[in-house]
Amino acid sequence: MKYGFVIIGGGIQGCATAWQLADAGEDVLLLEGGEIASGASGGFGRRGVRANRRDLRELPLMRSAYRLWPELDERLGIGTGYERTGGLFLIEQEATGTRGGLVAAQAHAATQNRFGIRTEVIGRDRLLELEPAVGPAVRAALHCPLDGTADHTAATKAFAEAARRRGATLREGCHVTSLERSGDRITAVHTAQDEGFEVGTAVLLLNNTGAADLLRRNLGIELPVWRTFPQALRVIPTDGPPMSHLIGHDHRPVSLKPLPDGSVMVSGGWRGRWNAGLQRGEIVEEHVRGNLRTAYEVYPCLEDAELAVADAGTPESCSADGIPVIDRVPGSANAWVGTGWAGHGFAIAPAVAESLASWLRTGTRPDDLTPFSLARFGPAPHGRPAVTDPA
Ligand SMILES: Cc1cc2nc3c(=O)[nH]c(=O)nc-3n(C[C@H](O)[C@H](O)[C@H](O)COP(=O)(O)OP(=O)(O)OC[C@H]3O[C@@H](n4cnc5c(N)ncnc54)[C@H](O)[C@@H]3O)c2cc1C
Repeated sequence: MKYGFVIIGGGIQGCATAWQLADAGEDVLLLEGGEIASGASGGFGRRGVRANRRDLRELPLMRSAYRLWPELDERLGIGTGYERTGGLFLIEQEATGTRGGLVAAQAHAATQNRFGIRTEVIGRDRLLELEPAVGPAVRAALHCPLDGTADHTAATKAFAEAARRRGATLREGCHVTSLERSGDRITAVHTAQDEGFEVGTAVLLLNNTGAADLLRRNLGIELPVWRTFPQALRVIPTDGPPMSHLIGHDHRPVSLKPLPDGSVMVSGGWRGRWNAGLQRGEIVEEHVRGNLRTAYEVYPCLEDAELAVADAGTPESCSADGIPVIDRVPGSANAWVGTGWAGHGFAIAPAVAESLASWLRTGTRPDDLTPFSLARFGPAPHGRPAVTDPA
């Protein structure tokens, strides 16, 4: 079978891009090795849709994401669980390293506002009006009223279902093992189930932690990315979630999200580890304790909360400079890769998909994807010369 666009990976990136392309009338096949939303786009809880203190190179995408998220339920015809809760980045210290603390807050707010991300610095009195249970050490916050959260599993499945309705073919249990190449084009992909699919226009490696391996084994290309296992906890406070906003912190590794069932998701940079025997990520007890401690240092009433879930099973890709790689594969005229999301690839996914689909259909890279080029890692880093766009 031959398809115009073959997408590898059924997470939020693959499904959102499949929907964009199918909605534009393109012929799309998406191949997912497990089930839709079984990677980083799956699992319990919610994901932050956050611009606050995001890498500046991602802010143009995030401004588009602010526009897209509130429209999605209606455009997809299925709920994504998106909610505009507002986001707070809590500050305790006068100065944190070279980039944070009270001394840096106004500069961060001004910069984010210049990128179209509404941001204000608020003092403790105003903060207590918004978040009465926040701990005594917190002195101020960066407030982004348009930040929020969404149900990542629901959103990914909503994109998948909407893509299907627009005519895309989505296949689960199809693990891509090889890419067939002729000259500078990928002509077909093959799966572990011994199926082959011809590629008409382009193939997209949107399979997150699987992308680097596929490129290394098939094309000898090394991407500057690796895999980690983010830790996420669900705790049940005695009196319901003490916060109503998406919460981040200036110097403590903690992120807090109120969940609809009255529990709280606790994450924020703590990691699990790979268990080779089980072939999956697992928690590290000490990191669970550390993450809980940071949570109640910020919200003291969480000290009595009951730990209900601790998970580090879903892998995520990271890159050498902390922002993703979204680019044409070096030396290939018709293969694209998106990976290295570094723990914040969910919020921008609708905007990435919109821009990536435009690039694929017009042959011109949109400006908001320029920062994610592989060229930023140095000249010809992967040993193969880039070729010009086919269009
Ligand atoms: C605990 C946790 C908390 C997070 N919090 C946030 C947050 O608050 N805000 C935010 O913006 N982001 C957050 N992220 C990051 C975000 O979830 C990810 O960046 C995003 O989901 C990546 O989407 P994806 O589609 O690229 O990858 P995935 O969802 O991992 O999808 C890739 C898919 O490809 C499939 N696959 C792999 N190899 C192959 C192959 N060879 N053939 C076929 N299929 C293959 C996998 O099975 C998988 O389903 C968090 C991540 C985690 C794990």
